Amino acid sequence: MTRVFDDDLGTGFGTRAIHAGQRPEPLAGAIMTPVYLTSTYVQDGLGQNKGYEYARGKNPTREALERNVAALEGGRHGFAFASGVACVDSIMKLFKSGDHIVCGENVYGGTFRLFDRLLQNLGLSFTYVDTRDSQRIADAVTKRTVAILVETPTNPLMRLTDLAESAQIAHRASALLIVDNTFASPFFQRPLELGADIVFHSTTKYLNGHSDMIGGIAIVNDDDIATKLQFIHNAAGAVQGPFDSWLALRGTKTLHLRMPRHDENGRRIAAWLAERLGAERVIYPGLPSHPQHALAKKQMSGFGGMISIELGTKERAATVLSRVRVFSLAESLGGVESLISNPAMMTHASVPLERRAQLGITEGLLRLSCGVEDASDLLADLEQALEGM
Ligand SMILES: *Cc1c(COP(=O)(O)O)cnc(C)c1O
Repeated sequence: MTRVFDDDLGTGFGTRAIHAGQRPEPLAGAIMTPVYLTSTYVQDGLGQNKGYEYARGKNPTREALERNVAALEGGRHGFAFASGVACVDSIMKLFKSGDHIVCGENVYGGTFRLFDRLLQNLGLSFTYVDTRDSQRIADAVTKRTVAILVETPTNPLMRLTDLAESAQIAHRASALLIVDNTFASPFFQRPLELGADIVFHSTTKYLNGHSDMIGGIAIVNDDDIATKLQFIHNAAGAVQGPFDSWLALRGTKTLHLRMPRHDENGRRIAAWLAERLGAERVIYPGLPSHPQHALAKKQMSGFGGMISIELGTKERAATVLSRVRVFSLAESLGGVESLISNPAMMTHASVPLERRAQLGITEGLLRLSCGVEDASDLLADLEQALEGM
């Protein structure tokens, strides 16, 4: 079991981001956690080991990352996985055939695909609801409901779910609230503090922040859930490798420096886009025109760098994508460099067409991940790309 054991460091987020979960390496005192590239650990005698037996079960580099992110989320246990999707898949192994999960209708395309194309075949059932309305979540709960899974803000429509209300609904039904916190990061939103039971991330995005690895992590407070997840981690084996763990750990050290800049750029660009295109075509929780701006201010301490814009047609979207120079046309988000994508054709292509239409993921929708470049250059880039629109 990996635990956050360095509560003596102080409570500052930045101090935790840099130090939590790490100790100077014992041999030479290296300040950076080494990349423990090993599959096994030599034992002193039969039944005598240093707490490490085989690297699927435990790896010191991975443990450092797990403790570090657990400290940032205000949790006690962390489990790092080979990808965000592998993390959701392993979390779902807490459940069994016949169990029912209430899921946000606008979750990440890969999460929906996992549920709809794979886990449903194994006997889990899912009801997808518009989780902006807590009553709809409550109405979807049945006697078989074991979990409510939400993402807030959502990808790419930036819809919010009230986490405190969702936690109450889940707990009234003795179900777990599971939250995908990838978009906000623990710097801006800490679901465990609002009552969530499991918070998870695609560390690929803001936590790593440098677009150079794929990973996922689940954080919990409850010891029983942690014991089960630890078993699944080792028994199903979708663990994060040591080098990718190290990259993510290097990334979290600057999370508190990067997020305010993503947020600052996001606010400036969203405000500019709202002027330029009309507020109704710009979706950003930090804009007063966002229908859930009040909830955003209540449960988040910042809004981040994710913005969606509606350009009306696929042709206009394609034109903008062909013109951008500082923004790069690519899937993914949360890195230091700005990215732009068309969710309908890219990240959400696996969501059936009529579902996409019903949700509002149109072919004219573009999603921007504002990086940490100079805002003036990002604005100039968008200005030239939107010319004539
Ligand atoms: C990317 C992403 C995932 C999936 O994570 P991978 O690391 O790509 O497997 C899950 N949820 C959200 C919100 C994401 O953006």
